[in-house]
Amino acid sequence: MEITPALLPKMIEAIADTIEQNAEEVTALDQAIGDGDHVTNLQRGIEAVKAKSDELSPLDWVGALQKIGMTLLATMGGASGSLFGTLFISMSKAAAGQTLDQQSFAAVFAEGVEAVKKRGKAQAGEKTMLDALIPVAEALQQGAAESTPLADLLQTICQSAITGMESTRDMVATKGRASFLEERSKGHIDAGAKTSQLMICAITDVVKETARQ
Ligand code: ADP
Ligand code: MG
Repeated sequence: MEITPALLPKMIEAIADTIEQNAEEVTALDQAIGDGDHVTNLQRGIEAVKAKSDELSPLDWVGALQKIGMTLLATMGGASGSLFGTLFISMSKAAAGQTLDQQSFAAVFAEGVEAVKKRGKAQAGEKTMLDALIPVAEALQQGAAESTPLADLLQTICQSAITGMESTRDMVATKGRASFLEERSKGHIDAGAKTSQLMICAITDVVKETARQ
């Protein structure tokens, strides 16, 4: 099965739905250790990307990822706006001149995550979105190395994001607003890790469903 940007409208719809369904829970997380605006920031970005669905689907991945990143940068705000924007724009750059398959996509995603690390001067274990994104990059790379069948890979990707997101509960935040709370940031899941996980699992669900058809 070839996964092209023609799938983006479905993916964006699924992402919008899962964020809406979990909006209250995530807002409560960001209220506990941040300023409570993460879902609002993200929904502004998702709505703007959704409005461009028709423009995105005929593009190639380089063009589509670039447009998504630029749209998020222009509309989202917050620390997460520049970080999610960076993720997509860097993936677009990494995808240039490549045919995306399981192997090359793993490398492209890993480059996007590296760019997020640089942009936020953060790494694994600092209680951020990276704690959901890094395990997914690793799962993709392992899946590429072992040529894991797509259905198994999709399952592993979503599960890695969930495990990573849950691991933020016991971490002390050392980046972002939550870091102001120091030890008191413990005991709450990071909002950006939660929304990253929700979006990743929404995407793997759409791909799974499409592959089955
Ligand atoms: P703000 O913190 O500016 O209010 P948001 O509430 O939209 O922005 O996003 C907060 C999320 O951004 C956090 O939950 C965390 O996952 C992520 N984040 C914040 N700072 C960093 C960073 N330096 N590196 C990676 N992720 C970060
Ligand atoms: Mg916030």
